[in-house]
Amino acid sequence: MQLTRKGLWDGVIKEFRKFLPEIDDDCIVTLREGNTPLIEAVNLKDIFGAIRVLLKYEGLNPTGSFKDRGMTLAVSKAKEEGARAVLCASTGNTSASCAAYASKAGLKAYVLVPEGSIALGKLSQAIMHGAVVLQIRGSFDEALSIVKEISKNYPVKMVNSINPYRIEGQKTAAFEVCEHLGYAPTYHFLPVGNAGNITAYWQGYREYESYGIISSLPKMMGFQAEGAAPIVLGHPVDNPQTVASAIRIGNPASWQGALKARDESGGVIETVTDEEILESYRLLASREGIFCEPASAASLAGAIRMKKEGVLSDGDTIVCTLTGHGLKDPDTAIRTSPKPLQVEPDIKKILKIMGF
Ligand SMILES: *Cc1c(COP(=O)(O)O)cnc(C)c1O
Repeated sequence: MQLTRKGLWDGVIKEFRKFLPEIDDDCIVTLREGNTPLIEAVNLKDIFGAIRVLLKYEGLNPTGSFKDRGMTLAVSKAKEEGARAVLCASTGNTSASCAAYASKAGLKAYVLVPEGSIALGKLSQAIMHGAVVLQIRGSFDEALSIVKEISKNYPVKMVNSINPYRIEGQKTAAFEVCEHLGYAPTYHFLPVGNAGNITAYWQGYREYESYGIISSLPKMMGFQAEGAAPIVLGHPVDNPQTVASAIRIGNPASWQGALKARDESGGVIETVTDEEILESYRLLASREGIFCEPASAASLAGAIRMKKEGVLSDGDTIVCTLTGHGLKDPDTAIRTSPKPLQVEPDIKKILKIMGF
């Protein structure tokens, strides 16, 4: 036997270089993000029948969310441009990703997060990677406007998704879906928060179509939580509320990009309730072996709703992006689940519970 030496995945910048802005090799900061699996949901046939459902599991990126795809490019470019520090506002995952890539790049990272409303796993990542974490007594939207103001006037690079390199990097997820399937799906379902990701996927699909790599485009199906649905309502929401903290956003930065993705693709942006989100969250974990975070499950919740409303047809191929890993937010998992049984260390009692 011999080593196969097939070469390992090089991260999204090197793998998709010809579709991305040019960058000097020496400046590439990567944790070998991307190449996440597209997993067939084989145990949801009672819900979807003859519709083929695939799950793009972005929780398997290096810091546990899709944010890494954009962060590798944003931080690499910041390094190339000679920045010493990066800055972001975050509901959690952007801060985790920013902190990790900045540490790898040797840049200082400042992250602003809304106090008390970011999941523990994400906060611990930002702290461990050595970012300066500033918990502000306010919302994500307030944090973002402060970050915009600072980066305009001071020598620190903003790496929120308004940074165009974030969107450029994130579009590679659409490339991967096409590479894995061999074609574009009929529908692509996504949770929508700041709306950078739906903007990026649509850009990715359109580019692959323009190069003749795929011959059809998916309809883009974005889902906001009912209590945080500015795009659906058509106006910003002052005090957004949802169990899905990653999409608890009242004034999305990429609002226009989301509308464009929806309208050009013939898709929708609609709402799902927290109950629907949590139900899909449990379904994915209990039937498909995938533990994603609550916000991620908004994509599947949206697909289930569209199936019920008769929008989807037999033979369709749908992809749901699962944006982040469930371990980011163990509190929600435990809070919304039955408590583990307590039992004496007594074999008879245990066997009885096991049904023997
Ligand atoms: C950032 C994030 C979202 C929302 O993505 P947008 O690009 O802001 O719409 C959804 N889920 C998770 C887990 C995220 O980290």
